[in-house]
Amino acid sequence: MKKPAASPSLALSTNAVTVLERRYLKRDAEGKVLETPADMFHRVAHTIASAETLLKTGQDAAALENEFYRIMTGLEFLPNSPTLMNAGRELGQLSACFVLPVGDSMEEIFEAIKQTALIHKSGGGTGFSFSRIRPARDVVASTSGVSSGPLSFMKVFDAATETIKQGGTRRGANMGILRVDHPDIMDFIMAKRDQTVLTNFNISVGLTEAFMEAVEKDGEYAIVSPRNKEVVKTMPARKVFEHIVELAWNNGEPGIIFLDRLNRDNPTPQVGEIEATNPCGEQPLLPYESCNLGSINLAKMVKDGDVDWARLKTVVRLAARFLDNVIEVNNYPIPQIAEMTRSNRKIGLGVMGWADLLILLGLPYNSDEAVELGETLMRFITDEARQMSMELAAERGSFPNFKGSLYDQKGSKPVRNATSTTIAPTGTISIMAGASSGVEPLFAVSYVRQVLDNDILVEVHPLFEKIARDRGFYSPELMKLIAQHGTVQDIPQVPEDVRRVFVTAHDITPEDHIRMQAAFQKYTDNAVSKTVNFCNSATREDVATVYRLAYQLGCKGVTIYRDGSRDQQVLSVGKEQ
Ligand code: ADP
Repeated sequence: MKKPAASPSLALSTNAVTVLERRYLKRDAEGKVLETPADMFHRVAHTIASAETLLKTGQDAAALENEFYRIMTGLEFLPNSPTLMNAGRELGQLSACFVLPVGDSMEEIFEAIKQTALIHKSGGGTGFSFSRIRPARDVVASTSGVSSGPLSFMKVFDAATETIKQGGTRRGANMGILRVDHPDIMDFIMAKRDQTVLTNFNISVGLTEAFMEAVEKDGEYAIVSPRNKEVVKTMPARKVFEHIVELAWNNGEPGIIFLDRLNRDNPTPQVGEIEATNPCGEQPLLPYESCNLGSINLAKMVKDGDVDWARLKTVVRLAARFLDNVIEVNNYPIPQIAEMTRSNRKIGLGVMGWADLLILLGLPYNSDEAVELGETLMRFITDEARQMSMELAAERGSFPNFKGSLYDQKGSKPVRNATSTTIAPTGTISIMAGASSGVEPLFAVSYVRQVLDNDILVEVHPLFEKIARDRGFYSPELMKLIAQHGTVQDIPQVPEDVRRVFVTAHDITPEDHIRMQAAFQKYTDNAVSKTVNFCNSATREDVATVYRLAYQLGCKGVTIYRDGSRDQQVLSVGKEQ
């Protein structure tokens, strides 16, 4: 492949290079790394641009390859991990998100486990609704016995996941969903109370409008048998709601999703109903659908103290084309997924570096201006991505299920993609880009990392370090103090205006978190990945209040986490380690 002539220098942090070397770069049989990060981006740009030739779009594939290379190496845009790992390589599986159907027979259940294994092997994450499985102790005609119920089968999925380490790259991730009107719902809500079980699952309760209304009125709601659709009994909605809140307060699980909202925005209701999302909850999908994500680094979209709208537009358009091309060159793990994905052509363009952008503009995350800007910015991105999708439809045809879709019903022009935008967590790609993750606030301004015996490394947010140096209050001692303290809010050496802008996830209220999630959700086709952080002393009532607020503000789901509520947590601040 020909290498683009003018390429920006690739400024990757040590952390980014470490992540790439460990998991993304090509290696030989002995484990020796065979490519540089720049080679990886060439490999990806070349493979994704080759779709232009395949589709005979009439576009200059070499010029686009160059553009794709530039937005990736400039850390303006990165596709989801499987695309970086697998494009142009033997596996060729490029999507992060899948949903598989789970039926109510042994054949269907174990078929789904096999399909899960194939997806995990290729680096994707899977989501399932287990709502179709008859409850535990229900009748089984063929054996005149009793059934095991969804929870027992989930353990089999979990064990399969545990066994398949994805080609040495990453272990599989699953989302398990059960409708709130399933007879086993109370057991499901409790399923992860013991933190040693279902460790490869995130679980969420699928809430319905009928249930939420019953919660408001303190009424009863119907529990329905999935086997014959008969109402088995009614339950007091508020009691079930409180049970969910109690367990989420206890250790963050289960999360909740609002099923009727996902279906209100289901672009292809004529094809099927949405029952589940991908592992982190941001991508609702039909059974057998997959979706590839990509995120724009907003920290790179600032010019002269304002959002660089012109550059943002250019990058959105290139990214939307890139993601549509991914669908074309993707190597799908099973034929049903290839068929379904090519028929709806969902893509999920999102953002990272939102907290960084706010800092660059001097706006506190927990300010009305920041919430308004979030809404304006996401509206702009979705509008531009949709516009691009229309142009792609004119160039290459609309998604095959367009007829009968919501777009068609509303008389919209043909679009190439059933959805265009999703806010992903960007867990790994944000490390590569050196950006804050997704639309989350900063987790810490600086933190202490213990390396080798007693060596302590203090990592400081680069924007904070720059401001501290420019304004003359930088000192290694202060940085260490901040790392140990976990927040700059009550450190007098940091000027007041700097403190206001460098707020972290724990400095702001849970309501601030939800307001930001809702602002982005308003103009996102799919959903928004966001964790609402609570302090350790938060009460169950605080959690319930946030759930209600999320519902009122139009969110599609909520994930919460109360500090210190799990034995092991990934990130922690304010502790000497
Ligand atoms: P990345 O930064 O690696 O591109 P994200 O953190 O944005 O990924 O996650 C996006 C989606 O990728 C998740 O919702 C999930 O569907 C999938 N995913 C994330 N981590 C894993 C994992 N360990 N195994 C399988 N799929 C994963």
